[in-house]
Order: sequence, then structure tokens, then C-alpha cells
Amino acid sequence: ATPRAAALTEASLARWPLPDPGADADKEARGRVLVIAGSGEMPGAALLAGTAALRAGAGKLTLACPACVAQGLALAVPESRVIALPETRGGGLAARGCESLAPLAAQVAAVVVGPGLCDERGSMAFVRRLLRLFRERTVVLDSIAMSVAAMEAFDQPVLLTPHAGEMAHLCGLPKEVVAQEALQVACEAATRWKACVVLKGASTVIAMPQGQAWRFDGGSIGLATSGSGDVLAGLMGGFAARGLPPEQTAAWAVVVHAMAGRKLGRRVGPLGYLARELAGEVPAVIRQIG
Ligand code: AMP
Ligand code: MG
Repeated sequence: ATPRAAALTEASLARWPLPDPGADADKEARGRVLVIAGSGEMPGAALLAGTAALRAGAGKLTLACPACVAQGLALAVPESRVIALPETRGGGLAARGCESLAPLAAQVAAVVVGPGLCDERGSMAFVRRLLRLFRERTVVLDSIAMSVAAMEAFDQPVLLTPHAGEMAHLCGLPKEVVAQEALQVACEAATRWKACVVLKGASTVIAMPQGQAWRFDGGSIGLATSGSGDVLAGLMGGFAARGLPPEQTAAWAVVVHAMAGRKLGRRVGPLGYLARELAGEVPAVIRQIG
């Protein structure tokens, strides 16, 4: 049967309110998020994703990245603890790096892994071990970290964030087919991998393993810019850390990301605002949603 998608709008979020931590709550109550991101060539992706997680309201941020960029990243994101991880020869993450993350398994509410990482093959063992280590937590897989999906169905709540090119690579389909049959492809992938699949594009589809799906058409062209997807992945980490389940996490992140883009579009111009400017708009956007 052809799957159906409900329209996702700003108004849809009203039935999925953010958990209220209460005025007396400390930062632990809004959840810790662990963002594993960056590489020698793209250290800024870790900054974009980590900052976005905090702007979504996560209480605490820990960043982990290849050792070569750790110090620079720590200075660029003074709000965060930064863990330096051992690198593969290709500049990716070595599996043994999971040992230094093990103490966090009981502490963090959500994990984001992938933005700006490199060495897809070399980092695979790290990502698989990470999933086992954080098997009780929500994990957002982005960029090359998604390639583990090709191998297994997930046991924990997982969100995947492919654009059409990445989905084509993951499913072995031509990119044009993914773009034309986005809903069908996303739904099949969600069922096969037991994950919440967020297939990004001018129109974004959110698909769940049990068959529910939503389509969001409220984005704008300025969002198609370097680093924009890293911000989206970070927002997902933040909303998941605050306690939303996967489909609500995805919906909040996609809508808030687009509304932040629209605000910048009006103020700065429809094209040419920077991904790093998106996160700063997020707190006001969340307030506006209510
Ligand atoms: P990434 O390719 O990972 O950097 O993510 C790009 C982001 O921009 C995603 O959130 C897409 O949904 C969004 N996007 C890409 N192209 C368009 C477009 N033409 N109109 C609106 N949003 C877009
Ligand atoms: Mg991306």
C-alpha cells in the first residue's frame, strides 16, 4: 500500500508540548547531550551541532571529537566539556575511543554522532560500539555515522537524518528515485532499520517504523547552505535530551530549524545567512510556538 503522510506545521507541535522542567529544576533536569562530531577538515560542524543542542534547551553539553581539534573546539564552545578521542589513520574515530565515553552512558539523555566526521569505513566500528554503549539512550545518527544503518536494525530509539544523496547511498537507489519517491523510500527505510527517518530536502519527510509519516513543506531555500544539517542534528539532540520521543523530537527540530531560517530570511535576506546564525534564533522561536 502507498504510505500516507500527515502535513506537519507549526500548529502540529501544540499537541506535543515540550516537557516542563519546572522553575526549580537544575540543568540536569533538562538533560545532558553528548555530541560526537568534527574532524580536521570540518571542526566547525561540532560547534554548530553542539551550540544548537544548547539553544534547543538541553541542560548540559559534552562534545567529543578527534584529538587534533579538541583544544580549538573547547575554546570555541566555552559552555562545553570537550573529550579528545583517538583517531583512525583516516582522521576518523577509533573504536577504542568508546572507553573514555563509557562513564557518560549513565549520565547523558541523548547522543548525536556524525556531523563533520570523516573516514566512513574507519569510523564504523566506533559507531557500532557507541550504539551498544548507549543502548538505553536516544541516538541521532547524521552524515557518515548513518552508514551503520546498512548493516543492522536498531535496538534503541534512533533518528537518521539523510538528505536525498545520503539516502541514495544508504539504500543503493538512484538519487532521483529517492527525491521522487521520498515518502515511500523513507517509510521503507524506517521499517527496515527500526528508526525514525528524517529525509531532508525542500520538502522533508519524517517516517516511523510503525508506518506513521509526516511531510513538512515550510522550509525556505536559504536553509540549503553549508552546516545547516549540522544545526538540525544538534537541535534533535537537544529536544531528545529534554525528553521528547523520536517522532516529536524530529518534528520539533524540523519546524524550529525552518522557522529560524525564515526569521533570518526576513532580517538578513532570503539567501546568504549562515548556518551558525540559525541557533541564536531558536530560543525565541520556541517561545513563539509556546
Ligand atoms: P544538509 O544537506 O545535511 O546540510 O541539510 C540541509 C538542510 O536544508 C535540511 O534541513 C534540508 O531540509 C534543508 N533544505 C535543503 N534544500 C532546501 C530547499 N530547497 N528548501 C528548503 N529547505 C531546504
Ligand atoms: Mg549533513
